Amino acid sequence: MQRIASTAFIATCAAVVRLAAAGAACAIVLLGVTAEPALAQGPPTAEEYAQHAGGAQIIPGGKYRLDGQAAVCGHRPVVLDPKLDDYGAAYPGFLIMNPRLLAKVSTPVKMWIFAHECGHQYRGPDEETADCFAVQRGRRYGWLDEKGVEEICTFISPARGSSMHLSGSYRCEAMRTCFRETGVR
Ligand SMILES: [Zn+2]
Repeated sequence: MQRIASTAFIATCAAVVRLAAAGAACAIVLLGVTAEPALAQGPPTAEEYAQHAGGAQIIPGGKYRLDGQAAVCGHRPVVLDPKLDDYGAAYPGFLIMNPRLLAKVSTPVKMWIFAHECGHQYRGPDEETADCFAVQRGRRYGWLDEKGVEEICTFISPARGSSMHLSGSYRCEAMRTCFRETGVR
């Protein structure tokens, strides 16, 4: 399965993140605001995506749970796609989560991936902003503590040294700062 939407609609952060880490939450982002009128076809709906992906399941908005905890992003549905080439992704109006990969990470990391993709829905394509949104939301909602932040840091740190190590470390530092901020970005 590949992205259905025209690449003109998609700002992919997957490449950046993949460089930065052994697969951090990222993938596609895009928020239709940059849609070009010349293109007849807009981004897919959750139904179109699921149909195209094959084997994907749609969870109605508000019903998704991760290890028993509610993972809600407004009214947006969540498409479960075990074939997605990342842990999670965001299309305008819905989120995609990969249950196969998510099964390998801890609950705080799962929740953070979801919240990161949700952050793209509310805040746009910027990765650092989505990271910050996610950890601050985790703090507010109570599913993230300092230990959880460190689990996320371990998750986005490359398993082995690579040229991208700095990127993962940078994201991590930014998230630690965000987590400690009293205000909400
Ligand atoms: Zn992202």
